[in-house]
Amino acid sequence: MSELVIRQIPVLKDNYVYLIHEPQSRATGVVDPSVAPPILEAAQREGWRITHILNTHHHNDHTGGNREIKEATGCIIVGPRADRDRIPGIDVEVGDGETYEFGAEKAHVFDVPGHTRGHIAYHFANSRALFCGDTLFLMGCGRLFEGTPQQMWQSLSKLKALPPETRVFCAHEYTQANARFAVTVEPQNAALIARAKHVDEMRAQGQSTVPASLGEELATNPFLRADLPALQADAGAPGDAVATFAAIRRRKDNF
Ligand SMILES: [Zn+2]
Repeated sequence: MSELVIRQIPVLKDNYVYLIHEPQSRATGVVDPSVAPPILEAAQREGWRITHILNTHHHNDHTGGNREIKEATGCIIVGPRADRDRIPGIDVEVGDGETYEFGAEKAHVFDVPGHTRGHIAYHFANSRALFCGDTLFLMGCGRLFEGTPQQMWQSLSKLKALPPETRVFCAHEYTQANARFAVTVEPQNAALIARAKHVDEMRAQGQSTVPASLGEELATNPFLRADLPALQADAGAPGDAVATFAAIRRRKDNF
């Protein structure tokens, strides 16, 4: 089975759109197109014909390019069943536990409500790639616009269970600001402190910090670590991962 070739396209202020290409079938997907022109240009440069759009959730900075790309290419738009009415041009609805065949590759779909109620994530196991939109960020997680802390913790717990070598392709370059907050949650976490420093260096050179491995996230992302006794004790919620997660999320909202 051939692996996906993945290209990251920075757009708007801090969004990342991904072009994913499966060489055997030449299927080419766009994950969360904020806008159309730079994506169409990037595909043309690669010599790829866009066959699919994969949306994680309905926010305009993830779907704003849907119709224009569909009109230009005739591609199929795949998105969350739970949010079918809010995904422009949706053709194929997918939901939790389903598999979507993308050329010779397969995406496993997870429902990950919290940031929005219909948010989904796509996991390409063979390519060790997770497209998680605004659910999991590097050293952070999405704001809870439409869901509860309990829902978001459950959603993140599904992603936590994936293989640690999984590459996390999130939809925003928020890593440096997230790291600044994360070190206040776990000031003694040596891996986190080292990673925060490395992120500062990368950003100073204008480099993207995305993707990172899930293993790195498990070691340094406080939002994935709310089940650890030390973080629960700090949050005053021993034995309660949801309350600990909620407390960390509240603190970040006001950071
Ligand atoms: Zn969003």
